[in-house]
Amino acid sequence: PVSLMWFRKDLRVKDNPALNAACDEGKIIPIYIHDTAAPQDHLPGEASAWWLHQSLAQLNERLNGHLQLFRGNAGELIPQLLEHFEVDRIFWNRCYEPWSVKRDKKLKQTLKNSSIQVHSFNGSLLWEPMTIAKKDGGPYKVFTPYYKKGCLQAPEPRYPKAPPGRITYADVPHKGVALAELELLPSINWYDTIDSLWQPGEEGAADRLSAFLSEPVEYYHSERDIPGVEGTSRLSPHLHWGEISPNQIWYAIKGKYGDQENKSIETYLSELGWREFSYYLMFHFPHFVEENFNEKFNHFNWRYSETELVAWQQGKTGIPIVDAGMRQLWQTGWIHNRVRMIVGSFLVKNLLMHWQQGEQWFWDCLVDADLASNTAGWQWVAGSGADAAPYFRVFNPVLQGEKFDKQGEYVRHYCPELKSLPDKFLHKPWEAKPEVLKEAGITLGKDYPEPLVDLKQSRRRALDTFDEIKGK
Ligand code: FAD
Repeated sequence: PVSLMWFRKDLRVKDNPALNAACDEGKIIPIYIHDTAAPQDHLPGEASAWWLHQSLAQLNERLNGHLQLFRGNAGELIPQLLEHFEVDRIFWNRCYEPWSVKRDKKLKQTLKNSSIQVHSFNGSLLWEPMTIAKKDGGPYKVFTPYYKKGCLQAPEPRYPKAPPGRITYADVPHKGVALAELELLPSINWYDTIDSLWQPGEEGAADRLSAFLSEPVEYYHSERDIPGVEGTSRLSPHLHWGEISPNQIWYAIKGKYGDQENKSIETYLSELGWREFSYYLMFHFPHFVEENFNEKFNHFNWRYSETELVAWQQGKTGIPIVDAGMRQLWQTGWIHNRVRMIVGSFLVKNLLMHWQQGEQWFWDCLVDADLASNTAGWQWVAGSGADAAPYFRVFNPVLQGEKFDKQGEYVRHYCPELKSLPDKFLHKPWEAKPEVLKEAGITLGKDYPEPLVDLKQSRRRALDTFDEIKGK
């Protein structure tokens, strides 16, 4: 028999359960659909779309040019393609975004009334959300019990599968469109730097994992919070598009370290757990991708200032660690996790702007933009999420900079105009005496902005605003 293999967020050949199962049955027709029926703001942002373009080119190569591409409403296209290719079975790995869940449910319902067999699999999570519950049957809302009592007590994640021994393609005429016709690349080429930094695709993902396992993983516990060093795996965009499965990472690490006690390994695996938790929340509380998880925040008195938002987006707030982070995002499509929290706290608390303003900017600029993790990250920062940082915990960006970028490598790299400032003032140039600034060749307000807000006053303002909803 011939099967339609529908690639979605599983753009890989290794450890792809749906692909393995489809190949076990016989010949396949591999397809990818750029689903334009997704809610407009959940279609891939600019950086992510650039990544997808590259990743599809890579996957097509791995499939010897047999990948057929389509653009349109996937829910409508699938029945048409099944009919056109005269196949009676379809394979896919499950997605968990609320709109994909709806689409797939509807599709399954439609196909149920025909002779088509639908086979779906778990290809992107260690533990699917529907398999983990509290004792009373309800979903967890707090990470630690979710991970320790739920996940770690559940059956071990699936061991990665070898790639199909042989992939045989059905001999059908090509009906898909050319990659360029998916219109994933932006009309202005802003992506040259990003292009030089990342290697989208399954091979790039495997290389990234090997590089991480070759050394940085050993120091993960102590270095993962230092943005000036490459102390984390940078696997997030690869994981987002499923160029590598979390199972491959999980077992590569277990294979190397066994069950020996190791703080770095435990911490790293629990970060994968945070990814799982984000998907878990999105699945069980689908409204959380659009709304405050904690409804109290519906009454929060957010501010909006176009000028301040643009200054934040462009890395011109006058707060060095915040500016360095926002410039890293713009230049590389990625920000270090510690700095995501710092720039997020600054936007939501010091500038008092809605977390969705930040979430949208990240969505467009991040190569790893992911509906579950981005929403969870922003709601965590804002204090409106499940198991979030309490609102009254306002990050002090000066102290954060001094603690995590002690020698200032990170700030000096992304804000080179501050390069000659002594370490003592690097994270607070406004406190430097005029002669120190002069010596460093900086005029505040000209070479580098004056701070957009007073950190103390804006912190106070945030806490006062929070007080208004406390009792709600
Ligand atoms: P590593 O430290 O090497 O961690 C390994 C993997 O674990 C990551 O690739 C990622 O898949 C997962 N992970 C690590 N930390 C988290 C976390 N806090 N939440 C969920 N998963 C995690 N991550 C995204 O993948 N996409 C996003 O759009 C995204 N937006 C974020 C927005 C904000 C405001 C914040 C605070 C965090 C966000 N994160 C997001 C989570 C985290 O910052 C990134 O996953 C991480 O920085 C990716 O770098 P890495 O691969 O080197 O991580």
